[in-house]
Amino acid sequence: MNEFGLIQQFFAEAAASRAASKNDSTLSLGIGDDCALITPPHGQQLAISTDTLVAGRHFPLETDAYSIGWKAVAVNLSDLAAMGATPYSILLALSLPSADEDFLREFSRGLFAICDQYGVQLIGGDTTRSTVLSISITVLGWLPIGQAITRGGAQAGDLIMVTGTLGDAAYALRHPHSPLQHRLDRPLPRVAFGQALRGYASAMLDISDGLAQDLGHIAQASGLDACVDVENVPLHSILQHLVEGDLHRPAVWQYALAGGDDYELCFTVPERSVVAVMAEADLQQVQVTQIGRMLPRQSAKTQVQLRLHQQPFVLQQTGFQHFG
Ligand code: ADP
Ligand code: MG
Repeated sequence: MNEFGLIQQFFAEAAASRAASKNDSTLSLGIGDDCALITPPHGQQLAISTDTLVAGRHFPLETDAYSIGWKAVAVNLSDLAAMGATPYSILLALSLPSADEDFLREFSRGLFAICDQYGVQLIGGDTTRSTVLSISITVLGWLPIGQAITRGGAQAGDLIMVTGTLGDAAYALRHPHSPLQHRLDRPLPRVAFGQALRGYASAMLDISDGLAQDLGHIAQASGLDACVDVENVPLHSILQHLVEGDLHRPAVWQYALAGGDDYELCFTVPERSVVAVMAEADLQQVQVTQIGRMLPRQSAKTQVQLRLHQQPFVLQQTGFQHFG
């Protein structure tokens, strides 16, 4: 199959049939021309971001094709969630070692499944051959002008909160076929909850490289320190069980505080907005846990202090880095 047939069969047709049923006035021109054309809705700002997944680097080589398609979109939607944006569309740059039709069919099924679930359309892309499988997705979303939740807005005294449970994906990576496998392969970005935090959260990001490291980005951008009570970090019952069993405690904290791929939200909330945030969490049935507080910066360098039962807690490694 040549490149054009491949694009047509696995991406363009599925995108066109969805576009036809959606009747989106914002999209003037989708896949097929040199560019897609979008007419931005009045009063909205474009939120745009790109994330690449490389086989063997961002997902194990044995990951199934459906999950790869799902996850490539999920990690991008998570970045929109982290700004409080409403997802709109994606562009897909695909580099493939071969035009393996079985792979492409399942990959495209996974990709369109998450697009449908989050109301996102595929509006363009690029397809090339390369030695390693690599998927770059650019995601576009909308934000009412000036309402983005950035990393830099936290104030001293704000509470630090996270959604869901942390460390599940890191655990799953090291324990293949565990009940937490779906947390690694098919993350569910917290898009609706991210949007609901507009006007309440003072700063936010999604946890992709481990809580300790990512929270450091909020602290740094806000000119503050952060203090986390490790015993309050929410764990799935499987990990909780391991912590109570004592033997695996250091490994579990390593997963929860420094493991990658969680795609939960970490955000800061001024005291006056806590009730509103918890009410929204209740409404959306999203687990939200307070894990610490933002503090005035104590020295020239930002610090994320970890405490376990009031005692300083030291991690072996703070988070994932490509060139660390
Ligand atoms: P060009 O050579 O002008 O870049 P291409 O042949 O790469 O055009 O792409 C033709 C059309 O198909 C364009 O509209 C492009 O956005 C779209 N396209 C190419 N690859 C993909 C893909 N993997 N997913 C979605 N759309 C794609
Ligand atoms: Mg091209």
